[in-house]
Amino acid sequence: LGKSSKDKRDVYYRLAKEQGWRARSAFKLMQVDEEFSLLEGVTKAVDLCAAPGSWSQVLSKRLVENKKEGQEAKIVAVDLQAMAPLPGVIQLQGDITKQSTADQIISYFDGEKADIVVCDGAPDVTGLHDMDEYIQAQLLLAALNITTHVLRPGGSFVAKIFRGKDITLLYTQLKIFFPNVTCSKPRSSRNSSIEAFIVCQDYTPPKDYVPNMGTPLLDLPPMDEQGRSNRTIVPFIACGDLCGFDSDMTYALPVAGEGYKLLKPVQGPITAPYLSAIQKKRKGFFNEQVSKKIGQ
Ligand code: SAM
Repeated sequence: LGKSSKDKRDVYYRLAKEQGWRARSAFKLMQVDEEFSLLEGVTKAVDLCAAPGSWSQVLSKRLVENKKEGQEAKIVAVDLQAMAPLPGVIQLQGDITKQSTADQIISYFDGEKADIVVCDGAPDVTGLHDMDEYIQAQLLLAALNITTHVLRPGGSFVAKIFRGKDITLLYTQLKIFFPNVTCSKPRSSRNSSIEAFIVCQDYTPPKDYVPNMGTPLLDLPPMDEQGRSNRTIVPFIACGDLCGFDSDMTYALPVAGEGYKLLKPVQGPITAPYLSAIQKKRKGFFNEQVSKKIGQ
């Protein structure tokens, strides 16, 4: 495979480099926003699971456009991984499922509230679908829990989900807090992937609801007045210009020298999550462990 084959197979990967986005995911947020106008008038945002930072880039661009004279734009971006700095973005390295991370995010808002919380979080996929869906759902619940602390009434929440067989439980949980919940599939998200983005609008927590990171949202009462467990079906919307690029297609590259140039990614990883494992492997650590186990 040639160096340019990824550019050919993945048009959004190539466009991200050309347009200066750190990751192709930027197009997913932009296409969701095109459909729902979520970033209109937004000046305060939280970007959960933000590395390498393309959603923060999109937010930063839009929030700077939105803010009026004398107003301040605020973006707090959080990830397990270290993220290269972005101007105007407050960065936190932490696990969003931990109370300490939630406390730090809340402290940055200092009593103020965010207009939107976005979460593109994805755990390392194991390939065991049930397990992957479960972990993804837990990540989303952690994001929702943080959201209930920092989002203003009427605000929006956007998060990546895996549309597995138990997704209706998540829809029901989200409906407790948001009257408008829509599942959206941006054109830049491959059809072959069960990934989609849940768009929750008009944050309206239940009466007397007190946000508490210790309270699992699963324990909240069901929405149904008779106390029955609900099966919620939410609308599904495909977004992104239908005449635009299809993320499952392979596109021929423009001829070199006539507008096409192979570009490096805008921001390479600053540390690889598997670095310590590689270092151990080079030092023969794993061979020693195996030898010990088989008693050699
Ligand atoms: N939206 C990002 C962008 O546009 O550049 C891409 C996000 S990437 C698909 C998913 C991220 O989720 C990874 O950087 C990963 O470290 C992060 N993540 C996964 N689990 C997390 C957790 N428990 N807390 C914080 N971040 C987490």
